[in-house]
Amino acid sequence: MEPYELTIAEANTLLAEKKLSSVELTRSCLERIEATEKAISSFISLDPELALQAAAKADLHLQSGEGGGLCGVPLSVKDLLCTRDRTTTCGSKILENFAPPYDATVVEKLNSEGAVIVGKAAMDEFAMGSTSENCAYDIPSNPWNIECVAGGSSGGSASSVASGQVLGSLGSDTGGSIRQPASLCGIVGMKPTYGRVSRYGLVAFASSLDQIGPLTRDVSDCALMMQTICGYDRRDSTSVDRPVEDYSSFLTQGLRGVRVGVPREYFSDGLDPEVHKVVMDGVGVLRAAGAEIVDVSIPHIDYCVAAYYLIAPAEASSNLARYDGVAYGFRKAVTSDLVDMYKDTRSQGFGPEVKRRILIGTYALSSGYYDAYYKKASQVRTLLLNDFKRAWESCDLLISPVSPTPAWKKGEKADDPLAMYLSDIFTLSTNLAGLPGLSVPGGYSISGLPIGIQLQGPHFHEGELLKCGFNLEKGLNLERQIPAITA
Ligand code: GLN
Repeated sequence: MEPYELTIAEANTLLAEKKLSSVELTRSCLERIEATEKAISSFISLDPELALQAAAKADLHLQSGEGGGLCGVPLSVKDLLCTRDRTTTCGSKILENFAPPYDATVVEKLNSEGAVIVGKAAMDEFAMGSTSENCAYDIPSNPWNIECVAGGSSGGSASSVASGQVLGSLGSDTGGSIRQPASLCGIVGMKPTYGRVSRYGLVAFASSLDQIGPLTRDVSDCALMMQTICGYDRRDSTSVDRPVEDYSSFLTQGLRGVRVGVPREYFSDGLDPEVHKVVMDGVGVLRAAGAEIVDVSIPHIDYCVAAYYLIAPAEASSNLARYDGVAYGFRKAVTSDLVDMYKDTRSQGFGPEVKRRILIGTYALSSGYYDAYYKKASQVRTLLLNDFKRAWESCDLLISPVSPTPAWKKGEKADDPLAMYLSDIFTLSTNLAGLPGLSVPGGYSISGLPIGIQLQGPHFHEGELLKCGFNLEKGLNLERQIPAITA
């Protein structure tokens, strides 16, 4: 086994026992990147020099018996998390050479533990998309079939972890962008409760929905990364001041007495039969592990796509107003007047999907339409939250599909925004209700593409989700694989 194939937990053991150094581990990942990046395109920017420096520093800590957590572990971070020493493009031309003057809180946390950030992962422009095809740079491929999409918007994060380029990654999830690419690439992804992880230094897309979370090769690693990134931060006003639980301690607990709800609306006609089967197999595994399975209903799930695709663009149109060529990023050279400069900068700097969202969002927020659209969509959030509250009376968490189908071919939905939006049907409710969600590998399609299973729970019940995810992983006992990649 090559070092790059290790999980974070396995690497930690070897690093602590001094059987492996962080420099060796980092070199192994860098070689893997060298061998696969042409085919996979996980990264917008790579910095081997900085990575090796961080690894050498981590080795000093490890030698003196310090370390642990993520010390010495090679990771990628999505290119919308601000990093002082590297560019942060958000997958957009408008921020092509933008180097933020500060680190995001989560990046600070990784650095202070001695993690090795190898590079910035590819993504849909400003995190708007479900395949990463809206990236203004190279588009990541699915490591299981490079003709297929890696999912989005954290596609580069997912492909870098699944292909063995790094051991873990940080992504962001506004409507499924951690869980869906994790599912499509056969890895674990968690969207924490809104407020659990600081969003300071996360470039805003839709502020009432955005949340940062980990993508890892298994559930134990997810618990480890969660431990590092969670916690209160006074620099994010939506951050919640509440103690962080010991997530790894949940993993060893059994499922006896745990009630798992199967929300009937998630198993509608449009669901791919292979996905349906994988999720039902997961239900069987949880039952065998001692969980009680109950039938529940989330009746307002049908309104999620419509509500999300009003709220997210509305908030985005406001958040993206700052990219006007004045304060930072790309500026189209001024000829005569300021308004022309704004217009030229924004029309050349943004890609088509971002412009579509800005137009939809500006329209939905305009006076005379606000009540009919943004306000109405916000009311749907309350109805949805009530559905979940009712569900929590009869169950502790929910099991469902992540994506209605396995990964699809690049280009297949690229010209059909509606088809793309509809593929988010099962992930949006988690963000609209501010809940935690976890995607765990459940199996494979006949054509060999991974299929994930989603778990959703009440606010701040990340520990229970990880416990259930761990039991699912154990019961399914899928062979851990890093696909062979041939360009
Ligand atoms: N696919 C969704 C969108 O395009 C979700 C994106 C996300 O979670 N960042 O908005």
